[in-house]
Amino acid sequence: MSDPIATARAAGRTLLTEVESKELLHNAGIRVTQARLATSADEAASIAAEFGFPVVLKVVSGDIAHKSDVGGVELGLADAGAVRAAYDRIMASAKQAVPTAKIDGVSVQQMATPGTEVIVGLTTDAQFGPVMMFGLGGIMVEVLKDVAFRIVPLEQRDAKQIIREIKGFPVLEGFRGKPGADLSALESMILQVSEFAASHPEVAELDLNPVFAYPDGAIAVDARVVLAAE
Ligand code: ADP
Ligand code: MG
Repeated sequence: MSDPIATARAAGRTLLTEVESKELLHNAGIRVTQARLATSADEAASIAAEFGFPVVLKVVSGDIAHKSDVGGVELGLADAGAVRAAYDRIMASAKQAVPTAKIDGVSVQQMATPGTEVIVGLTTDAQFGPVMMFGLGGIMVEVLKDVAFRIVPLEQRDAKQIIREIKGFPVLEGFRGKPGADLSALESMILQVSEFAASHPEVAELDLNPVFAYPDGAIAVDARVVLAAE
């Protein structure tokens, strides 16, 4: 089995690609959409056929942290032709946006059913060490800074509290007949990330952004792991 951390270190990188990050998290039992690297449009189309349509394609580069910003994410690709065309568009626009980036190719993954978007993150505090962050996705985090923090390791009680502390919690509880999110699935994921952080002290940052929360279950559709400098 490959070791994504060793691979990144050997290449002198601290940023793991989404494919590497998801492999690491999947190995830790955390639910993520499986992502496979394709290095040609044809390979992308054949992986997509294996996964089943629709699929999502994303640029894979240890030099690109925010894939959408460089035209590097295409959602809802319904057939092989759409996948081939998206592969070429993504490679061209990422190269144009970051000419110095080393681009490995494009990842192929299943298109997840949309859910309530939440963010589970880890940062390292100079004093407290690893700190867990939880919030609602999109503008709730970016504009309103509606997030809660806990020092790692978390206990069950902390996982319950961090979810309930954000102002947007009513969105997760469900309102006006809209079903709520599976809070126990979110708690489990937070605890798994806490355990992952505790057992991987070389991880300086982690972002599951977004996690799709459903009435039944939750899955991370994007993942980014950053290692501490050696
Ligand atoms: P970025 O590097 O820009 O954060 P993301 O991987 O988060 O890229 O993709 C951008 C958006 O596309 C996500 O916020 C999510 O809404 C959607 N998305 C990404 N992957 C999937 C997927 N596998 N299934 C469904 N939607 C996805
Ligand atoms: Mg993202």
